[in-house]
Amino acid sequence: MTSRPAPPLSAPEPRPLPTPADPIQAPGTPEQDWHTWPGLRSLPVLDPLAHLPATSGRRPRVLLVAAHPDDEVLGFGGTIAVLAAAGIRLRLVSVTDGEASHPDSRSPLARDLAAVRTRELHQALGRLGADVQSVALGVPDGRVARHEQDLAGRLAELLRDCDLCVVPFTRDVHPDHEGVGRAALVAGTARGVPVWEYPVWAWHWAAPGDARLPWHRAARIPLPPAAQARKHAALECFRSQTQPLGDEPGDEAILPPAELAHFRRDFEVVFR
Ligand SMILES: [Zn+2]
Repeated sequence: MTSRPAPPLSAPEPRPLPTPADPIQAPGTPEQDWHTWPGLRSLPVLDPLAHLPATSGRRPRVLLVAAHPDDEVLGFGGTIAVLAAAGIRLRLVSVTDGEASHPDSRSPLARDLAAVRTRELHQALGRLGADVQSVALGVPDGRVARHEQDLAGRLAELLRDCDLCVVPFTRDVHPDHEGVGRAALVAGTARGVPVWEYPVWAWHWAAPGDARLPWHRAARIPLPPAAQARKHAALECFRSQTQPLGDEPGDEAILPPAELAHFRRDFEVVFR
């Protein structure tokens, strides 16, 4: 037998205010809007190779940092291809394995996402022509902020022989991207290594000229046709993100074609 709850003796607790809509879940800005905005094309041009020391006897090394296994290819993959072709050494840190991209999926694939996404990443890096030294930190996906201080220490260690650090945008709205970006900024400052931030989700939630983005420190890296082709081929590897895991609710693609369009441009943008 189930008893009824007693009637309230006083006024009910006020309801919490509705939380603002999650800008990442909300419909995004079409790539066409970015494409037709002259502001993006008129950003200062950055040649990444000109920013690496031409020291004799030692090839420069770049530390690439990603919150999830695909961030670095989405945001910086064309430039990775350029750096790799120029013989720059690359060390890649995957902070999480991306196992929580489909938290509501009941597909068997959803239980295996860490392994699937790691495989996809390595296939993609191969298509970029990048022979990277890979480090996976195994921080739980979605929980980066809780590990931010430790992460800054690990990144400072991994930066010890690097000349540049490339990280997710510290204002990308996704909490893992922001946490990884902040930790890397701390590490870069400690080591005296410049840090470039690449946006991923900002292309979705922001709009052309959006005052929330630090345009004054944005730069555009043009991609030669060969690097564009490599990036397009690499993006095809992330099938666990670009295709639905199944037919049930929760299986939806994280990166449908409208989202991927932001990453098929002939240039990439960094904040520095
Ligand atoms: Zn990510």
